Amino acid sequence: MGLLSLGTPLPWEQTREYAEHVRTEGIEQLIKMFKAAYARTGDGYLWGDEVEYTLVKFDHGRGLALLSIDKDSVLADLNEDGPLAQLSVDNDLNFHPEYGRFMLEATPLAPYNGDSLENYLYVERNMNSRRSVAQTAIADGTIKPLTITVYPLMGINTFTFPSAVANGEASQSLFLPDEIINRHARFPTLTANIRKRRGEKVAINVPLYKDTNTLSIDESIPKGRSLFKHDEEPELGAALPGHIYMDSMGFGMGCSCLQVTVQAPNLNRARYLYDSWANFAPLFLALTAAAPVFKGHLADQDVRWNVISGAVDDRTAYERDVKPLHSDGAFGGMTDEAKARAQKIPKSRYDGIDSFLGDIQNDFAKDGEAVFKYFSPELNDISPPINERTLQRLAQEPQFDPVLARHFAHLYVRDPIVIFEERIHQDNDDETDHFENIQSTNWQTLRFKPPTQQATPDNKSVPGWRVEFRTMEIQLTDFENAAFSIFIVLLGQAILATDSNWYIPISKIEDNMKRAHHRDAVLKDKFHFKADINSPTFDTVELSLDEIVNGCDSFIGLMALVKKHLESRFGITGDDLSPKGTHARIYYYLELISKRASGELPTAAKFIRRFLLDHKDYQHDSKITARMNYDLLNKLNSISELGEDVRQLLGDDIGNYLINNPKA
Ligand code: ADP
Ligand code: MG
Ligand code: MG
Ligand code: MG
Repeated sequence: MGLLSLGTPLPWEQTREYAEHVRTEGIEQLIKMFKAAYARTGDGYLWGDEVEYTLVKFDHGRGLALLSIDKDSVLADLNEDGPLAQLSVDNDLNFHPEYGRFMLEATPLAPYNGDSLENYLYVERNMNSRRSVAQTAIADGTIKPLTITVYPLMGINTFTFPSAVANGEASQSLFLPDEIINRHARFPTLTANIRKRRGEKVAINVPLYKDTNTLSIDESIPKGRSLFKHDEEPELGAALPGHIYMDSMGFGMGCSCLQVTVQAPNLNRARYLYDSWANFAPLFLALTAAAPVFKGHLADQDVRWNVISGAVDDRTAYERDVKPLHSDGAFGGMTDEAKARAQKIPKSRYDGIDSFLGDIQNDFAKDGEAVFKYFSPELNDISPPINERTLQRLAQEPQFDPVLARHFAHLYVRDPIVIFEERIHQDNDDETDHFENIQSTNWQTLRFKPPTQQATPDNKSVPGWRVEFRTMEIQLTDFENAAFSIFIVLLGQAILATDSNWYIPISKIEDNMKRAHHRDAVLKDKFHFKADINSPTFDTVELSLDEIVNGCDSFIGLMALVKKHLESRFGITGDDLSPKGTHARIYYYLELISKRASGELPTAAKFIRRFLLDHKDYQHDSKITARMNYDLLNKLNSISELGEDVRQLLGDDIGNYLINNPKA
């Protein structure tokens, strides 16, 4: 998403009237996209990452680390004409808006070429530049662009700079002021429309970490406010005992993550890569865990995922199959027509993928029937709800076999949440807004990104078929973010090159997603994994992350796979991959991932939890004080700057290497 074009987002009462229009036209756009790009092939392995930053204001005099919410003008400075925009371009950077006024997202200006080794070494340097250019643009040394997954005191007391009060119309949150939301009207409208469609505020309940003095009620919930009808919801059952209760989109969309997108050679290989990568989405969520604390309380989980899932959950009580909080509210803000077609929808629009795309191996359009190489339809064993009209429409087009059609028909059970007045009427021959409207608000663990109508086989100036890997939590240092991005991308390339059968029933991947949330899942959990990637059967075994990454009897391990690939594709041998070898940096990237998986190095979540539990002010009540937050964020800042503290997170080996070699 580039800088948002100006436009007038429609409130829910109007947006909902256009829902069917957007779906119908969006599918026509998709069909035209497929027709244009279907036969495209031979695209290079281009890829890019996305890093999200949280602007933290350090008030050293008062010992506070607050969310900075008035520096969002830097985004315009970094994008519009002027010296900062030039600096951004000169450094090969692209800055994007995100949900929070305290957030920045940055990517490389152009994608990297994954077929050239040089480009893998360039990733971390590009990430360094993003951080330093952002810092230059902020022009205030007390505000740091930190790569933290969650800001620990979000929603507790006065947590922003400048201060703001939680009484805003858009979110109606008891905790979060609307002043944290991006100023572009799209974002407050998204926030309000989710609430209006649902008919209730979102309600996120994260299990509270239980310590000796922990209470089972969330004492931070204010009582007796009567500004909005929704204020009574915690008492009506929205807040569960023993949980941290959160009531607003910002708690989730204010979290930061690390995403990578790669381009596959063609549609069929993109489908195969998507399906194979599906296995790794939960595993790399657990490996990158960095979110042990929400709204000032230690959580009994380590990751952000289900918090975002709840934070954008616009399903009505009927769709969620629960009793509504308000007696007449089962259908929330649905129109009568929508009510008549309403169906149960088990998952939020932010959740794990529900079906594989199938690794089709023939040219379906010519032969009339899809033939799969490894995939079999029974692997899609979740049966997610679908939009019947979408399915029927796609069935008429030869480019969509039933498995692919069901994928889009499932995405299309959702309503558009925001529509821009100026964008209602589109030219389906070369616009994609309606398709993207539904596609890009299905925030799943992976995203299959089809190219546009311009992406004909001979037009390589526009992107081709891409797959996005979306589960990883952002890491504290550029070194770690580069390591994880590169590892996933090399793994993708190895998967495409070796062509193994990674398929297991998708319900097992879903179960892995639940396990990945657990506290210390890296050490304590086992995950469903393919018993034998050379076997045509779909048998699974349960393996620890150590076994999956570092290898065991039934599997050589992802590390060995990636090393073999480095050798066959780039000629990098074991000797090159050593502390004194020609590719020491890559050696240390791999060391990081290997040691995280074995538990020798802690995840950021474990590190942060331990820091807070060991803090002298901690009262064994699972609560974080302003001082604890300040000390923690100072520590995390020092780590991200590769100060001495980096050894505490990354160990002596990697830590010393980084202190001596801060630049890639
Ligand atoms: P979104 O937020 O929708 O995922 P962004 O524009 O923020 O989109 O990020 C897209 C990512 O895809 C960036 O990292 C970018 O470098 C990368 N990218 C751009 N073009 C290609 C391409 N042709 N193939 C693969 N990746 C690409
Ligand atoms: Mg993005
Ligand atoms: Mg983003
Ligand atoms: Mg993305």
